[in-house]
Amino acid sequence: MTTFDCLFCKIVTGEIPATVVRETPTTLAFRDIGPKAAVHILVIPKEHYVDVATLAQSDAKLAGEVLETAAVVAEAEGLLDGGFRVIFNTGEYGGQEVLHVHAHLLGGEPLGPMIA
Ligand code: 5GP
Ligand code: ZN
Repeated sequence: MTTFDCLFCKIVTGEIPATVVRETPTTLAFRDIGPKAAVHILVIPKEHYVDVATLAQSDAKLAGEVLETAAVVAEAEGLLDGGFRVIFNTGEYGGQEVLHVHAHLLGGEPLGPMIA
């Protein structure tokens, strides 16, 4: 997949609308269109990387910025007291459907032992 036909790159450019909750120079956080918890937000680097393994090995600083944005959003959403979950689905076995790396930030209610 090229960045040209990437869904999340189109959210970065505004070509596809999204409910953005936080934007930094390098990252974007927006609400998942099909929430699987009371709070379900996706955090991405604006630059296109396929998955977390590629991102972390190519640009560890940017990977850290994605986590920093996830933490700031978790606090803003009031998730710090109750707790929350951050998931990077990766590749076919990991159930990754959108091939632009994204952290799922889930919380706002007790979560099950594991969520896909
Ligand atoms: P994955 O399975 O790749 O880890 O997760 C992709 C996530 O993107 C899913 O939770 C799905 O609901 C979400 N998603 C898919 N299309 C859109 C969209 O157009 N806008 C938003 N905000 N989320 C989307
Ligand atoms: Zn992309």
